Amino acid sequence: MQRSHALVMGGSIAGLLAARVLTDHFDRVTLIEKDRLPGGAAQRKGVPQGRHVHTLLSKGWNVIKHYFPDIDAPGEDGITPVDWPHALCWFHYGGYKPRMESDIYAVMASRPYVEWQIRRRVLALPGLTVLQECRVRDLVASPDRRRIAGVRIQQKGEAEETLTADLIVDATGRGSRSPKWLAALGYGRPDEHEIDIDFMYTSRLYRRKPGALGGAKAAYMLPAPPHGGKRAGALCSIENDTWLVTLGGWLGEPAPQDESEFLDFARTLPAQDLYHAIKDAEPLTGLAIHRFPSNLRRRYEAMKRFPDGYVVLGDALCSVNPVYGQGMTSSALAAATLDRCLSAQRRRGSLAGFPKRFFRQVAKEIDRPWRLAACEDFRYPEVRGVKMPGTDVVNWYMKKVHQATLNDPAVYKAFINVMHLLKSPVSLFYPDIAFRVLRARLAQRGAGWGRGVRGAAQLATG
Ligand SMILES: Cc1cc2nc3c(=O)[nH]c(=O)nc-3n(C[C@H](O)[C@H](O)[C@H](O)COP(=O)(O)OP(=O)(O)OC[C@H]3O[C@@H](n4cnc5c(N)ncnc54)[C@H](O)[C@@H]3O)c2cc1C
Repeated sequence: MQRSHALVMGGSIAGLLAARVLTDHFDRVTLIEKDRLPGGAAQRKGVPQGRHVHTLLSKGWNVIKHYFPDIDAPGEDGITPVDWPHALCWFHYGGYKPRMESDIYAVMASRPYVEWQIRRRVLALPGLTVLQECRVRDLVASPDRRRIAGVRIQQKGEAEETLTADLIVDATGRGSRSPKWLAALGYGRPDEHEIDIDFMYTSRLYRRKPGALGGAKAAYMLPAPPHGGKRAGALCSIENDTWLVTLGGWLGEPAPQDESEFLDFARTLPAQDLYHAIKDAEPLTGLAIHRFPSNLRRRYEAMKRFPDGYVVLGDALCSVNPVYGQGMTSSALAAATLDRCLSAQRRRGSLAGFPKRFFRQVAKEIDRPWRLAACEDFRYPEVRGVKMPGTDVVNWYMKKVHQATLNDPAVYKAFINVMHLLKSPVSLFYPDIAFRVLRARLAQRGAGWGRGVRGAAQLATG
């Protein structure tokens, strides 16, 4: 099987993880990135979202740790995850989730820091070449049009040239030009499923105030949709003793544009913890604003014709509402799927038909984060887009789950497992959890009847 050279377009989280995986399967891997890559944890133009809060979910952390076993090295050599429910002060659905110890570890760090820790390890891999300040301009098909044989690239200040490879991975993010390039070559475009949420974010860095937030490392202040408002806020303790604070809202809710609006917005969040933490904290930067128009999924797996030698992953494949913190984890799951599919393909002896197989498998992985985000966003009736059958029923039950998490650590733990993509959402419907959810629901109803049912429920659970 011809596996001498693989090429990755885009050197962000998805591209770096894909490059790591490909070094196990190809003699040479070339990573092409249009930015100049910083020698540390610095912001860069190609990743404007890097200025906003990024949580790396537990599942994503586990996958990344699998590929980089030393990534949890102490201090500045690695990333230190936190016990997530213990680190977090989380107000949602009108109450606080319990702060408790658990075995669910996730990452609170800046986006550039996470990328840097991965990048420095990827750049040290044998067989890997990086072309930075180099832009991919177009795809090159084989003469029979059966496969994508290479890409047209342009290094800064140089003329365009062609680079060939046996497998090419598009990890250029949400703005990926694959649909346009493939259409121009006669393959058609993938269907795009879009759910309009018009979410606007504003973020700012503060010096951390020791002792604030009752010792919590982070605060999430989220509304109870659809009637509990559209504003959300997150504060995360990140490197250099700083807090990164992101405020924003669904459906055109105007995110703060200046300093006084920022504090006013924080004051109007569903709970005041974040506001009290930052109101007299020292700001270290100006405001960074980002508009996120829609959840977007490109259905490459459903295309009738697709060339060999080419796959798409990361945000270029599926980009969901950042409130749920799933983007980097989805990229990690896609890279792991690429790994599995390439191993399976070895038995076939050639890479023929590989993209179809990869897209089918990765669609299954992406389905879970996509459904979780899409369902939640549809709680707002103004949200427009492809609504999956059963969404309203799932949301009815999930609202009860959210409410039960406020008082029942077992339900909260089950919910976090799902949210961090460690367990299937189906696990929230298992009898032990469903019973607790129902019990919490009944307990909220009138005291007399509720007390009776609680008593019966307690008897039943011992
Ligand atoms: C406001 C906001 C907050 C978010 N919060 C979270 C969070 O809490 N948790 C989480 O997991 N995810 C979060 N995400 C999503 C997360 O940022 C992405 O999912 C993650 O970065 C993976 O993206 P990617 O690597 O596919 O693409 P990107 O990060 O967009 O990177 C694409 C890369 O391709 C390069 N590139 C583009 N075009 C070309 C070209 N033609 N030639 C060469 N290079 C090119 C770019 O320079 C860039 O480096 C958030 C997103 C936003 C917008």
